[in-house]
Amino acid sequence: MPVESPYPLVSIEHALHSILAHCPQFAVTRISLSESQNRVLAEDVLAPAPVPPFPAAAKDGYAVIAADRSRLRTVLGEQTAGQIGNLMVVPGSAVQIMTGAAIPAGADAVIMVEYTTQQGDSVEIETDVTVGDDIRPVGQDIEAGQKVLDKGAILGAAEIGLLAAVGLPTAPVFRQPRVAILSTGDELRDPGDELAPGQIYDSNRFSLAAAVTQAGGVAHPIGIALDSPESLKQALEHAIDTHDAVLTSGGVSMGKLDLLKPLLEAEGTVHFGRVIMKPGKPVTFATVQGKPIFSLPGFPVSALVSFELFVRPALRQMQGDFAWQRPRLQVALAHAISHDAHRTEYQRAMVYVKNGKFLARITGFQGSGRLLSLVGANALLELPPGEGQLPAGAQVTALLLQALGA
Ligand code: AMP
Ligand code: MG
Repeated sequence: MPVESPYPLVSIEHALHSILAHCPQFAVTRISLSESQNRVLAEDVLAPAPVPPFPAAAKDGYAVIAADRSRLRTVLGEQTAGQIGNLMVVPGSAVQIMTGAAIPAGADAVIMVEYTTQQGDSVEIETDVTVGDDIRPVGQDIEAGQKVLDKGAILGAAEIGLLAAVGLPTAPVFRQPRVAILSTGDELRDPGDELAPGQIYDSNRFSLAAAVTQAGGVAHPIGIALDSPESLKQALEHAIDTHDAVLTSGGVSMGKLDLLKPLLEAEGTVHFGRVIMKPGKPVTFATVQGKPIFSLPGFPVSALVSFELFVRPALRQMQGDFAWQRPRLQVALAHAISHDAHRTEYQRAMVYVKNGKFLARITGFQGSGRLLSLVGANALLELPPGEGQLPAGAQVTALLLQALGA
């Protein structure tokens, strides 16, 4: 009799749905703008004041009265950015003005310095001007009370600059999940150590920590647990006590020392223990004391692909980002491929543009242990079960992991 897993194979959609139902968004906190990059805005932001807050010169030149037709005007003085003099423009006069300076009383236009010639204490005006020329009126960029950012916005350079521009020193954001990362396996050693026969380096701890950080979480690698019930239990309980979520790798397939599933059953609830996909079939999701535990397979590519499909969406949702879906693009295969005929398979690929068409080329041998298949990949090709063979030119769906290169 073949050994059968007691866990039913669930669909990818079912698995994701179950995870998202157990990963509600976190509380709101306020942080300084300098710490706010890539965080998710927790509230709409309204501008408390207009930008610019006063009528300002858009160019270096002279503030004048537009209706004044005098060719030569007496220069009353100068007004630079941030300096307010006691100057009053009257017909026959002008005030020299710099970009960003407040328009002096009486003036209703600015003439660019390029259209003037200075003559002693006077300036000769060489062009016609209309009211409002080269003046940025109050609220030209942002009106007082205007909504400038939506709840859920990801704070990048422009958004952070905007918050500062309207005078806000802090941003309301959702708290970030603190994620413990635990590698499991007697064979694992730290990079830099000598390897004895049968040992390999623990790469998942590092790749998953980077993936958590990229997904906006706070990654805490907590080391390697041995393949023993005691070691796993101790590591898991410690991880749960001090974190919002736990990410393990290894120990969830059908081997004799794949001990994580029974441990999770004993400590909490296992929501699913197998998914119809490749790679990543043994991926397991449990909650213990209400906290999500993601137990990913040990093979490095399986771990990262199942992270992408299941853990990243959960971490994004906890941070209040409900727009976590990757762009899906129809692409043409640049060459024939074979794929799993029974499970949806995610092959690592480079999507590129040629003659205005999106093409995809897979990144060589697609083994679950071959991290090189992910290096240089900007997409996962989502290949539904079927014949198992696709010819060059076949249209497939690509999940874009990064922006496309040139
Ligand atoms: P497992 O899921 O524990 O059966 O492991 C499957 C394969 O992944 C085995 O070849 C393990 O040696 C390997 N593996 C498990 N954990 C890691 C890890 N942290 N880093 C690199 N390879 C791993
Ligand atoms: Mg193992």
